[in-house]
Amino acid sequence: MAKNTKDIKCSFCGSGKQDSLMLIAGLDAHICDKCVSQASQILTEELSLRKNKNAQTAARLLKPIEIKDHLDQYVIGQEQAKKVLSVAVYNHYKRLNQKIDKDEVEIEKSNIIMVGETGTGKTLLAKTIAKVLNVPFCICDATVLTEAGYVGEDVESILTRLLQAADYDVSAAERGIVYIDEVDKIARKSDNPSITRDVSGEGVQQALLKILEGTIVNVPPQGGRKHPDQKMIPVNTNNILFICGGAFDGIEKKIAKRLRTQTLGYKVEKEQQEVDLENLYKYITPQDLKSFGLIPELIGRLPIVTHLNPLDRATLKSILSEPKNSLIKQYQKLFDYEGIKLDFAPEVLDFVVDKAMEFKLGARGLRSICEAIMMDAMFEIPSGEPINEFFITLSYAEEKFDKSDLKKLKVA
Ligand code: ADP
Repeated sequence: MAKNTKDIKCSFCGSGKQDSLMLIAGLDAHICDKCVSQASQILTEELSLRKNKNAQTAARLLKPIEIKDHLDQYVIGQEQAKKVLSVAVYNHYKRLNQKIDKDEVEIEKSNIIMVGETGTGKTLLAKTIAKVLNVPFCICDATVLTEAGYVGEDVESILTRLLQAADYDVSAAERGIVYIDEVDKIARKSDNPSITRDVSGEGVQQALLKILEGTIVNVPPQGGRKHPDQKMIPVNTNNILFICGGAFDGIEKKIAKRLRTQTLGYKVEKEQQEVDLENLYKYITPQDLKSFGLIPELIGRLPIVTHLNPLDRATLKSILSEPKNSLIKQYQKLFDYEGIKLDFAPEVLDFVVDKAMEFKLGARGLRSICEAIMMDAMFEIPSGEPINEFFITLSYAEEKFDKSDLKKLKVA
């Protein structure tokens, strides 16, 4: 039997209809507007509490295999780098949680250096790791850094970026991850210690030492030297994980030279002779980084060295369609917004990969090639006759690509 409206009460606080602005009915209960807003307040507070705790919890919960499982969803191949990174990151956050007591072994910081051709996924790996762990993350370019007092950015600007990424929450930033790209560009120009000042090379390496190791740095919250009056924020870099990356063009020669001299003078074991000449990166050691021009002190502060493999055809093809946010899935999503089911003939994927290989554009090139093919469709379809499906055939792809400016890139 239906209740008299006068008898209806909030099932939480008991207020009647006359005492509240609104009573919302559920299956077998009612809730008044005051209880709704109170519940919403509790929920907001709880969620923000959880968000703050998330960095710690995520690090505590995720084991190396779980971290790698996440990376697998976004990054294709690069098994070795993924494994090394997962372990390094896990150990780093384990170190964060350790209670320092006098006799205990103190776990050292495991900053990482990744070596691999451009466009092989170094930045993507660092970015994905930070996402998985839910910690603040920033990318900076070593090429813009100079020694303090010279034109360019001071190394402290790196921490300004991290602070900004953490919404100025200093304690969150202090557990964050910084990716320093193009670290090979600050190699010293010759193998001998410099006689003249090398403010953008060795000078920057020297300046980086301090923050990589762990120290309290006074960080200008707005960055730069444009705001001389800004109040500095002290940031402790002890628990910030630094991941450096670089292509180290030409390092293969140094690796080859080392391998050759290593194998010449000694009796060589059979398997040692079978060096994979296609991918010398996998034999990289800190010694090669030193021959390239990184100073030993910096190498010492980047104890984990790993490499990324060059991308072959099969890997490029997988990158196109397999990752969680692969290019193909992104285009399908864009078309889906218009209510259109987008599909590609399998040969189109081969065509895109062939072009990327031909133009030596690596994974970065996949996007420009796809854009060239998809541009007209994305431009015209939203204003055209409504359609339900759009199928990209090989001849369509070839025609659009041939018309594009990319075609003119043709390499010898
Ligand atoms: P790097 O930092 O090594 O120069 P990036 O990580 O910036 O290269 O890669 C450029 C783009 O290429 C990424 O945004 C990503 O879309 C794609 N990519 C490169 N390598 C991979 C990979 N192994 N798996 C998935 N996507 C990749």
